[in-house]
Amino acid sequence: MDDTIRGLKQAALAAWEPIAKRAGRAYVAGPRITDALTLSRQFWDAGMGVVVCFWNGENTSPRIVANRALATLESFAEADGDHYLAIKAPALGFSRDLVREIVTRATLSSARVHFDAQRPEAVEKTRALAESVMGGGTTIGFTLPGRFSRSVRDAAWAIRRNVPVRVVKGQVPDPAAPELDPRAGFLAVIDALAGRARHVGVASHDAPLVRQALQRLVSNGTPCELELLLGLPFGPALREARTFGVPVRVYVPFGEGRLPYHFTEVRHNPRVLAWLARDLWRAERAPRAKVPGWTSAPA
Ligand SMILES: Cc1cc2nc3c(=O)[nH]c(=O)nc-3n(C[C@H](O)[C@H](O)[C@H](O)COP(=O)(O)OP(=O)(O)OC[C@H]3O[C@@H](n4cnc5c(N)ncnc54)[C@H](O)[C@@H]3O)c2cc1C
Repeated sequence: MDDTIRGLKQAALAAWEPIAKRAGRAYVAGPRITDALTLSRQFWDAGMGVVVCFWNGENTSPRIVANRALATLESFAEADGDHYLAIKAPALGFSRDLVREIVTRATLSSARVHFDAQRPEAVEKTRALAESVMGGGTTIGFTLPGRFSRSVRDAAWAIRRNVPVRVVKGQVPDPAAPELDPRAGFLAVIDALAGRARHVGVASHDAPLVRQALQRLVSNGTPCELELLLGLPFGPALREARTFGVPVRVYVPFGEGRLPYHFTEVRHNPRVLAWLARDLWRAERAPRAKVPGWTSAPA
């Protein structure tokens, strides 16, 4: 019986992977840097900043990942819009040499290099990697997921090291704190940063959460902005940013798309099916050309 269930699970997973890969294209600008640049220009024209990141495939080597980051810095240096580069330490094999190469190149164009958050077990090594390239003239940023029990402690580190941070809910739970509510964790990190951090990116599409986070940061005079992910709904969170008069930045990935949800979530969230149908439809179309109008002036 166990074998039958295991077999069915494997078959379902095998069927899901190509579908997820296809639908995941709705969450990247396209496969090439030029796709990211074209879309970024539209966000710049709409008064927003961008974060650019190469999303690797499963078999992409760390060298190729680093080359894409270097090429991104080259093309964006000439473009003149507000941007920073995001990197993923595991995709770079946690290589100090590769990260140093990227950071050295970023110094030439004064671009910030920001570490995305990955799995909880990667945080310690990512932090050590970030430390290894600090102090050389390039601004190094770090992401703090509310779902990780250690993030409040990491916030104290970021304040000490004067590191700009992005706060997210986090895509994977922390095995050390599986019950930690992502929203409560998010706000605990915001509270740890408010009034003390150099700069905070509130990275969420959850409008009530964005409102609470911005309220706490703005009332403490903390420099902050709203960060949005390409492909997720912008409207409600954008309205909160407008109310508080804070700037907005959009995360524009290029390379291999991946879905921000999994079919097993259907049990708790039937809307996943509608999102999947929409994403399969969107994935067949050219990269989104429709960028919402935006002004950071309070409404
Ligand atoms: C700029 C940015 C950078 C990020 N960087 C990282 C990172 O480095 N590491 C990391 O682990 N995570 C990162 N994330 C992802 C983050 O951890 C969350 O998984 C993700 O943002 C979802 O949580 P949320 O708070 O935005 O919104 P949710 O509460 O999940 O959703 C907000 C609203 O959008 C709707 N919605 C959600 N998904 C969809 C969808 N696919 N289609 C349509 N509607 C949808 C929901 O129903 C809800 O109404 C990042 C997110 C952003 C915005």
